[in-house]
Amino acid sequence: MKPLDRLILDLQRALGEDRVRTDEEHRLTYACDESGIPELYLPDVVVHPQSTHEVSVVAARAYDLGIPLVPRGAGTGVTGGALAVHGGVLVVFDRMNRIKEVQVGDLTLITEPGAITLEVHEAAEAEGLFYPPDPASLDSCSIGGNVAENAGGPRALKYGVTKHYVLELEVVLPDGSVHRFGRPTKKWVTGYDLVSLITGSEGTLGFITEITLRLVPKPPHLETLLVPFPDVRSASVAVTEILRAGILPRTLELMDHRAIEVVREKAPPNLPPETGALLIFEQDGKEQEVWADVERAAEIFEKHGALDLLAAQTEAERDRLWRARRSVLTDLQESYPIVRSEDLVFPRTRIPEAVEMAYRVEQETGVPLCTFGHIGDGNLHVNLLYSPEQQEQVNRALQLLYQGTVALGGTISGEHGIGLLKRPFLAVEQPAELIGLQRQIKALFDPKGLMNPGKIF
Ligand SMILES: Cc1cc2nc3c(=O)[nH]c(=O)nc-3n(C[C@H](O)[C@H](O)[C@H](O)COP(=O)(O)OP(=O)(O)OC[C@H]3O[C@@H](n4cnc5c(N)ncnc54)[C@H](O)[C@@H]3O)c2cc1C
Repeated sequence: MKPLDRLILDLQRALGEDRVRTDEEHRLTYACDESGIPELYLPDVVVHPQSTHEVSVVAARAYDLGIPLVPRGAGTGVTGGALAVHGGVLVVFDRMNRIKEVQVGDLTLITEPGAITLEVHEAAEAEGLFYPPDPASLDSCSIGGNVAENAGGPRALKYGVTKHYVLELEVVLPDGSVHRFGRPTKKWVTGYDLVSLITGSEGTLGFITEITLRLVPKPPHLETLLVPFPDVRSASVAVTEILRAGILPRTLELMDHRAIEVVREKAPPNLPPETGALLIFEQDGKEQEVWADVERAAEIFEKHGALDLLAAQTEAERDRLWRARRSVLTDLQESYPIVRSEDLVFPRTRIPEAVEMAYRVEQETGVPLCTFGHIGDGNLHVNLLYSPEQQEQVNRALQLLYQGTVALGGTISGEHGIGLLKRPFLAVEQPAELIGLQRQIKALFDPKGLMNPGKIF
């Protein structure tokens, strides 16, 4: 019997046929993600484990038989990380989606990896606590996918990214062994920080099967300002001035003219006609302090060319604004044949130069760009909008964007990971020795090279 047939038989016996699927229709559901990669990558078998023990059984058997293993959360990744590029077993965490407990006194939450991030937010907030990381996909991505990608989001400016909230992880290594990394305490320095190594490792080192997250008290007050500018340049100068003034907002987001256009139906109707860029400024905390920051920020915005200052007056207005912002990427995907979403990050003092650099690339290559995202972090989602026959121009644009980013002291990925899509460009940022060192680390966890093969390196 072939190793794959042996594996399928063994897993169907262990987990049951309904959770070990080989029918083409089911496998096709998992052959793509949100990366826009046109090829379909069919896994040979899709399994839906319900416990750490089952993940361990699947991994041990596949590893023994030399069959690739690929973890998958909700498939919202935009770099192809969850695609089974070499076939094998796709391990989907949709049945391991239980939020186990919120420990109010310890400010922690323990969850299985398949829980949707919004549900983690809701569970924390139901206890008066707060889980800050908020990827724009939060109503559809999984918390395990967030840990695997070290996801960011609009609130990262003040609160940091996923890794700042992961205390302890249960991890199943590709050989099936089960480990706990870290401790559920606010501090620990016992041994190497393997939690940080797994966080952001894009499913290439092991399966995350349980996560203990750090929570913070829910901020009592929140204010949101929408600030239209004539163009991205003036908005980006205002952002650096806000940060230079020592104001640390919870959120400082940018939308350029193409982003505004694509969500126009959802954006507030009262934007000045000459609006070419929008900033969303949000601050939370004690009411008096929030208002003090809002007033100082408003002065800076006005000084740097803001066309208006529009405050969200109600929760419904705030929701509407965020729905518009969060849907920019999906609306772009519906409006253009191919959207390649980049997540470049720059030192914040270089933001205006970064914006200039992106415009130059657009002019030089003729590939239209849409820029939006977490500008307060220096994190710009530069989206390339194109059709298949423009692939050569796009490759040139990518090379120029990445080189320009590194030359400005930035990084080619702030939150989406390298995955499959950026793999050819890793060497633009990292020297061969550093890539070699990381390969050696991977080989310690995965000596046979079967864990999510074809990603990052
Ligand atoms: C509209 C839209 C908006 C987005 N906005 C943001 C944003 O603001 N910030 C941001 O950071 N990202 C954003 N993303 C990208 C994406 O949502 C994140 O990368 C998210 O963390 C992926 O989670 P997922 O559950 O969908 O993971 P998947 O796509 O299923 O997998 C992503 C990677 O994680 C690995 N993985 C998944 N689960 C596990 C596990 N349990 N153990 C080990 N490895 C695992 C996979 O192998 C893969 O490499 C956005 C995507 C979309 C479509």
